[in-house]
Amino acid sequence: SLTPSLFPELIQALIETIDAHAEEVTELDQAIGDGDHVFNLQRGLQALREHAGEIATLDWVAAWQKIGMTVMAAVGGASGSLYATLFIVLAKNAKDKLIDLAGFSDAFLQAVEAVKQRGKSDVGEKTMLDVLVPVAKALRELAAAGKPLAEILDSLSLVAAEGVEATRDMLATKGRASFLGERSKGHIDAGAKTAQLMIAAIAEVLK
Ligand code: ADP
Ligand code: MG
Ligand code: MG
Repeated sequence: SLTPSLFPELIQALIETIDAHAEEVTELDQAIGDGDHVFNLQRGLQALREHAGEIATLDWVAAWQKIGMTVMAAVGGASGSLYATLFIVLAKNAKDKLIDLAGFSDAFLQAVEAVKQRGKSDVGEKTMLDVLVPVAKALRELAAAGKPLAEILDSLSLVAAEGVEATRDMLATKGRASFLGERSKGHIDAGAKTAQLMIAAIAEVLK
């Protein structure tokens, strides 16, 4: 079964995919942001790698709590506080839920809702939410329908890729990109791109 003992392998996969796409993502964040998104994520991921051995020994609730607190402490940018919120609220909501895929998908959807509140934002505003929201919704639907894990993971990778591509023509209304107004159009959002890369990497590990 899926336990936090997988965590070191998951973190390694995330580090590798962000490193492999660092130049591409930095160009995206330079076009409509301040260019530090990869650096922010790498700081968070390195901090998680330092704690990976300990996190691997925890239960999921304690693991998500530790992940959220670690990200919060390590990362300064908008993405840091949003991902920290995701994991801390995930820990909170998972407490009274069975830790199976359907229970996880409920808690994950609630955690993404909390990210929306934290960012005062929603889908369609050219952010990581354009990936996280459709992925969370698809996960809940597929898990509730009892689909096999491999099929769910494939679907989520697809939904994530569509979400990234959709940000290209959106007008940014949140975050630094919103300062550019109409000029934000025509570029993929860096935070949506890295959310997609990380989801695809997690799916590969879990398959
Ligand atoms: P910063 O913008 O503070 O430099 P990062 O570069 O690490 O932080 O992260 C930028 C990404 O964070 C954006 O590409 C976007 O996806 C996401 N983001 C920024 N503001 C918000 C918000 N209010 N709601 C949701 N996501 C946001
Ligand atoms: Mg930035
Ligand atoms: Mg910044």
